Amino acid sequence: MANPLAPDVFDSPAVGILCDLERDGFRVELTADGTLIIAPRSRLTPKRMQAIADVKDAIKVLVRCCDDGVVARRDVFRAQLDAAPAAAVPAFLFKSDVPYTRGVCFSCGDRLPEARVGRCWRCALAWRLACRLPIPADLATALDTAKVA
Ligand SMILES: [Zn+2]
Repeated sequence: MANPLAPDVFDSPAVGILCDLERDGFRVELTADGTLIIAPRSRLTPKRMQAIADVKDAIKVLVRCCDDGVVARRDVFRAQLDAAPAAAVPAFLFKSDVPYTRGVCFSCGDRLPEARVGRCWRCALAWRLACRLPIPADLATALDTAKVA
């Protein structure tokens, strides 16, 4: 499953850096527009700031993997996958009655930032987690350009 061209974010040094920050009492979160916030910033040493900067995209992806909405979707999608017959892949719909409409996630019904037919970032990330697919560390860039709602 491991692809050297798309290293899994869970194998990244960002995991250790994020765990250390949380252990040391830092608050780590993303703003609505995808900016990484680590507070209190005044307690970050220059060395630690550099280590964070080196893996910033991977940290953003990890923070998104822990998003409540992503975790809820992942659990539903994983149950659907476990219930599906062997060699079959479910449609991964968070809600079963959402119509295909431009500008609305067809899986959960959340608004999309643009008038396209597709999934929101939470559903897109959650089905990868449900299938235990590698989560590329550079996924943050794609999620950022999707203007997180
Ligand atoms: Zn969705």
